[in-house]
Amino acid sequence: MKCPKCSYNHKRGKDGMSCLNCKRHFIFDPKRHANGSKSLTDAYFIKCIEKLSQNHTYYYTEDELYCFMAQQTQRSLAGCLFGAAFLTFFLTGILHALFEWGITPVFLLIPLLVFMAVRVSNKTLSRRKWAKFLNYWRKQCKKFKYEDDQLSGMITSPQLLEKPQPASEPDIYDYGAAKLLICEHDIQVDWLVMNKFHAENGIVIISENFYPEYLTDKVKELINTNPELEIYALHNAGYHGEKMVSRLRDPLNKWQLGGKEIVDLGVSMEHLAKTKIKDKIIAQYSSNFPAHGIMYHQFSQTLNHCLVTGVTFAAAYAALHSDTSTSVSGDFG
Ligand SMILES: [Zn+2]
Repeated sequence: MKCPKCSYNHKRGKDGMSCLNCKRHFIFDPKRHANGSKSLTDAYFIKCIEKLSQNHTYYYTEDELYCFMAQQTQRSLAGCLFGAAFLTFFLTGILHALFEWGITPVFLLIPLLVFMAVRVSNKTLSRRKWAKFLNYWRKQCKKFKYEDDQLSGMITSPQLLEKPQPASEPDIYDYGAAKLLICEHDIQVDWLVMNKFHAENGIVIISENFYPEYLTDKVKELINTNPELEIYALHNAGYHGEKMVSRLRDPLNKWQLGGKEIVDLGVSMEHLAKTKIKDKIIAQYSSNFPAHGIMYHQFSQTLNHCLVTGVTFAAAYAALHSDTSTSVSGDFG
């Protein structure tokens, strides 16, 4: 396993858990920690964070990092079968050459290899286990007093409780706001605002729970005084999320948006089926898949496309990301 500090190629069993070159202690032990069918090492974990955050230039959520990592080891069944077939032919050739075995007995290996391939393709790191790994990483970073735990870009708690200083973000919510985006969860507001989506797209962003609170009066005024205001809703995939627009229109709801047009930009189970996110990862969330589990750069591009063209999230995602690869090279473990 490669040392993330000095890049020394460390042999886990023989050399122990401290880098022979720089003495850095390894946190993840590939013998004990695995991301699905792939060994989990410090270097691999850090590489995943760097890839997801585009070298720490984007903020990301816990769910986003989990989905990104779990996606890394989701091998396609077709790929596994191809590998199994290749191995079978290879073994056939070797055994035939060495022992002059007939071809037929060797082909009995095929069902075994296909079985192994399917087993490998089915391994997925669970959300719960990943949360334990993340917690362990944090604790070990503190224990060994690492200056940088590499997680500074992860959004874990509300970040927008205080109104921004005018000097730091002048008129940030006053660009004549013609668009309003209401998110199902507070963290989705942080995720978009901290990555500057609001400024780049001239849109006011607030959660269904009126977070951040200091924006509430401003948003209500906007709704009441601007009849041209475009209102969008962003929600999770699942029953509660997909009922969000109905909730906002409910006469008993504090939003009072009954007579307004609301464009549904939320994610739905139908939308997810058109993404590359695998079923086994979606299943980890028990029919409530978070919109902030999709990689930010894909999500923001899709949302931007929706706002500009008026197409649905699913159509925009399919048009923009149907061929996008999100894999991380394995050559750093
Ligand atoms: Zn080292």
